Amino acid sequence: MVLDLTVLGCAGSHTGVGRMCSGYLVEAAGKRILLDAGNGSTGNLQREHRLRDLDAIVISHRHVDHCIDLIGCYYNLRFDPDHAGRMPLYAAAEVHELLTGLLSGDAPMSFDDLFAHQEVGHGDHIQIGEVSLRFARSVHPVPTVSTRIEVGGGTVVYSGDSAGGPDLVEIARGADLLLCEATWTGDAADYPPDIHLTATDAAKVANEAGVGRLILTHLAGATDREQAMAEAAAVFDGTVQLAEDLFRYRVEAHD
Ligand SMILES: [Zn+2]
Ligand SMILES: [Zn+2]
Repeated sequence: MVLDLTVLGCAGSHTGVGRMCSGYLVEAAGKRILLDAGNGSTGNLQREHRLRDLDAIVISHRHVDHCIDLIGCYYNLRFDPDHAGRMPLYAAAEVHELLTGLLSGDAPMSFDDLFAHQEVGHGDHIQIGEVSLRFARSVHPVPTVSTRIEVGGGTVVYSGDSAGGPDLVEIARGADLLLCEATWTGDAADYPPDIHLTATDAAKVANEAGVGRLILTHLAGATDREQAMAEAAAVFDGTVQLAEDLFRYRVEAHD
């Protein structure tokens, strides 16, 4: 069994040329799960899939570079004559409030007519077919989750936006692949605390958690990508890669 992770967007905070905001498609055991829906990411999703073909959507937090495309998803599903039922949506606290607020008074169908929303937080577990999802709180200015995805012994962990800390290390423990935000380069002391990670600190998290492979994502627009790569590679013991829109990463399950 394999788990495929396709990057639909990996830009931090705002889009760039050919770079959409956070969105990742997980495909495993016949299920398709969208992790985050930042600006433009669902356009990339539709290169290969229809929105209605997703089995679930997971949103790490309410910052718009991680959730704003759900407004477009609302209209896409609403106007899709072949869509039926409600799309399962697992989202950190405050996401549902933000999105329904944006749609209020503007739409004959409510957000909840199209999405079956369930709030998720630290310690929660969800099973989608054979795919297991676990969540941990993340250090970030708004309620945010990191997500651990396991299927058939293969494990991918997505940090969400995070300043690191023991909860991230714990949920990433032993993962085959850690998709970790690395917004900045250089010295963490040069940046405001408790918001994001530098590439060096992402690599330290990966070492502490004992992961097999580290993929750096959510680099800020001004962050030098080669420098981020070099800083992480100097610290991390395993393979480091930079996330790129439309790249696909495969994890082979162990059993
Ligand atoms: Zn972000
Ligand atoms: Zn954020």
